[in-house]
Amino acid sequence: MFRSCFASISSFSLMKATEKCNCELDQDDFLTVDILNDVDVTQNQTNLNYQESEPVEEYKNNNSSNIIFQNSSSSSSSSESEPENMQNSKTTLEDCSIIYFAGYLREFSLLLTVIGGVATRRWWFKRTPETRRRYADAAWTHRLAIGTTVTAGLCLIGTFLSFYMELDPWTDLWRLFIFSERTIEVRADKQVAIILAEMGKCCLLGIEHPTYKRVAGLTSRLLNANIEVDEIRKRQWSVVVVDSPMVNAFVMANGFIFVFSGLAAVANDDQLSIIVGHELAHCLLRHLNHYNSVNLAVHLMCMLPASVILSAALPFPIALFAVVMCRFILYVCVGLTTQRGHEVEADRVGLELAANACVDLTQGYRFWENMSKINGPSTRIWWLETHPSDKSRARYLFSLIPVTKQLQKLAGC
Ligand SMILES: [Zn+2]
Repeated sequence: MFRSCFASISSFSLMKATEKCNCELDQDDFLTVDILNDVDVTQNQTNLNYQESEPVEEYKNNNSSNIIFQNSSSSSSSSESEPENMQNSKTTLEDCSIIYFAGYLREFSLLLTVIGGVATRRWWFKRTPETRRRYADAAWTHRLAIGTTVTAGLCLIGTFLSFYMELDPWTDLWRLFIFSERTIEVRADKQVAIILAEMGKCCLLGIEHPTYKRVAGLTSRLLNANIEVDEIRKRQWSVVVVDSPMVNAFVMANGFIFVFSGLAAVANDDQLSIIVGHELAHCLLRHLNHYNSVNLAVHLMCMLPASVILSAALPFPIALFAVVMCRFILYVCVGLTTQRGHEVEADRVGLELAANACVDLTQGYRFWENMSKINGPSTRIWWLETHPSDKSRARYLFSLIPVTKQLQKLAGC
């Protein structure tokens, strides 16, 4: 069932994706891990460039080719308009190594530190009490040198990370961006290829479908209204409408905006524009890059040192439990907090983008009020959520109306 699978790999969605299957069950068994690994990125590039090649023809025959480029400044056939990632489909070794470190090596390094801690503990308890006392005395004598070395090591990592700090113009905050945009886009290209390969067989609305035309038209209007924004002008945007009753939307870091027909059915044009603005904002604010960078920094600076200390100091089962708990606490305190913060930022910037397109700004909070009625009162614990509650989003968007109305005046609305 691809629905739950694509939800798990989507970058940033409008709201929390359901963990259950939102459509009818299908009999497809092609979405296994093996098959996903086999998706050819080069084929994806062909699709992305929208050439008249076989894969696109296949989509067309299925009446599901609704991939378009809403590049407002030029047509999709212009090679000059192609962003760097479209022109150069080769992935460099650096791209791979960073992705692997962020993903697989992160888990591997955690395992290594636990093994190292356990081995240290076993080695310690094999010494005689006399030897242990001698080592303990020596450690106490050299406590200053040991403390300095550990602090210097952490400072070194901190200094290394500080080179990747940038002043983000959208938030006026110094932020960590370890990964290059190219790296993030390569990863997004691969994920989009997987999603389109699966959805193209059953669940995409054709480009002639009225809902598709509506969503694409609104997106185009929004992009044109914000054409002076460099990140919007220089990027190639794509709209995909998924034929599903799910009320949601998500965006990939390479500019692919996915909107579900269920969302288009419940949102009016102004509400849909504000939602698409929210998705655009995730890309402009480089949220995926920032989220992964913060997670990597926390892993290096906190998780690895903590797992060594815990597994050396505690018996193995307790140490394992403590490491898992430590990881969970960091996920709640850093990961989820960062994600919710990103959603709030995307709501603000999305409304500002929509303001430039002269939409009715009151529709933002009205949409979330409606969603709160549809979804009912939340029974979840807020600090375990990836998204703020519908009501708090409505309140926040309501509070932004006076400021964004000023933007509309400047835009001549
Ligand atoms: Zn979002």
